[in-house]
Amino acid sequence: MRVFLLCLTMVLGTTSAFGWGCEGHQMIALLARTQLTPAASAAVDKLLKDNPISPTLSRFCKDRPADIMADLSTWADDARSGEGTGAWHFVDIPMTIAKTPGDKSLDKWCPENGGKDGSGCVTKAILEQWQILKDKTQPAEARARALRYVIHFVEDTHQPLHDSDNTDHGGNCTAVTYLNEEKPANLHAIWDYRILQTDMERRKLSQSAYTAAIGAEFAKRRAGWSKEKVDPEAWAWEGHALAAKLTYGLLRPLIPVEPPGEADCNAERARVAALHISIGEAYIGQSLPVIREQLAHSAARLANLLNQTF
Ligand SMILES: [Zn+2]
Repeated sequence: MRVFLLCLTMVLGTTSAFGWGCEGHQMIALLARTQLTPAASAAVDKLLKDNPISPTLSRFCKDRPADIMADLSTWADDARSGEGTGAWHFVDIPMTIAKTPGDKSLDKWCPENGGKDGSGCVTKAILEQWQILKDKTQPAEARARALRYVIHFVEDTHQPLHDSDNTDHGGNCTAVTYLNEEKPANLHAIWDYRILQTDMERRKLSQSAYTAAIGAEFAKRRAGWSKEKVDPEAWAWEGHALAAKLTYGLLRPLIPVEPPGEADCNAERARVAALHISIGEAYIGQSLPVIREQLAHSAARLANLLNQTF
């Protein structure tokens, strides 16, 4: 997966991003499912089942859950090159930017038109696809496609490196040592799925058991979360703050904050390699509670959006 990610980054020259990996994406959808109203749950199933994806599309995730919403939560990653929607999975807010009151717009980092991999970014894609999903005059096939995108992108936005960039393609060009492994791992993959997998393995929990554990851990927060507005830009700013505080902020030594610009992946890798950064137990211990909260919060927000829709 790591090699695959790095290769893809080099081929596409863009932020390679499989936000949360297979396990994380599917678990968020499984948890969101438990928070849907019966009407929303049935409508989601009907739309997805009545409008199946192409049977010839190659699916990256091999252990696919029976729940159709969880299964199709990873469709957008499989379809990204065919649909030309790679840019919709992230918004590259530079690490030089601090959120300032009155300047919350992400337009600067969300290209409207052009670009080699389509246009837009994750926050606009959520709102645009949600509009299509809500519009009953749209063909059912378009609404099903929009639903698959909305599920995936609400999840992606909650991975801090999908909202952040240190001129390193959202951590894809930042190679560090993970738990004393011989081969370097890229920071994006570590946040997508490595830390999560480490936790699942250590606790010996299956996907369904881990989903239930996260649901229980954050059950008391759900009432507050269910009152939140659908606000993808606010979610992206939250992710950016977490990247500054934890994802990059806990690295030792710190990687200098780079001015925004086009990433030179090889140069960035060499620069970071010279710092000999190693991610160990202290980093994982501080990141894991936040990763679990982001999964749970993402599930609650996805459920809110779908409950409002159907
Ligand atoms: Zn994605």
